[in-house]
Amino acid sequence: MARYTGPTCRLCRRLEEKLMLKGERCNSPMCAMDRRNGIPPGGRRSRRRQRISERGLQLREKQKARNTYGLLERQFHNLFVKASKTRGITGDVFVQLLESRLDNVVYRLGFAKSRAQARQIVRHGFIMLNGHKTDIPSCLLKSGDVIAWTDKGIKTELYRGVAEAITDVSVPSWMSVDKEKLVGRFIALPVVGEVAVNFDANVIVEYYSR
Ligand code: SF4
Repeated sequence: MARYTGPTCRLCRRLEEKLMLKGERCNSPMCAMDRRNGIPPGGRRSRRRQRISERGLQLREKQKARNTYGLLERQFHNLFVKASKTRGITGDVFVQLLESRLDNVVYRLGFAKSRAQARQIVRHGFIMLNGHKTDIPSCLLKSGDVIAWTDKGIKTELYRGVAEAITDVSVPSWMSVDKEKLVGRFIALPVVGEVAVNFDANVIVEYYSR
């Protein structure tokens, strides 16, 4: 599956907001947003926000969500279409679908420092879903699904790092993790108010409704 391969920090700088795409680096003095004082690519602080159109604001919200979850436009739009065909409030269902992607769950469980790393872990065959190796990061989880490491994953340096760091991880209420065995469970779809997101899903619905 195709993915964005350009400079990650540029995505934050373009939107003039920290999207926390690089794990620990985002909270360190190495963060490009902090180092460059939030100046967007091109070198000059824009005044876009002051004269941005409603459509521009909607686009910005959509880009924020898309970049946060690390999806290309087509993947993101396909998920939106799926949400719009599902019973319920489209914006809420959309957030639930984004949150139930395997790469996102691996990240939220503390098995990876960023969603990009989670995607790599899954692609490399380090993760099992319900006892079977799964290398599809976009796979959507259901209530009760169990996420564990494969034998190949357990042999990695990465696994040892996760095992040491997991004690400090607090997972969201809609999942649980056994910190001894590094086995996670996707308990249920999240209730939307509980999900900490940096975008307004209803604005994205408006964006795609035109
Ligand atoms: Fe964004 Fe993180 Fe890069 Fe900072 S370090 S600009 S928050 S991706």
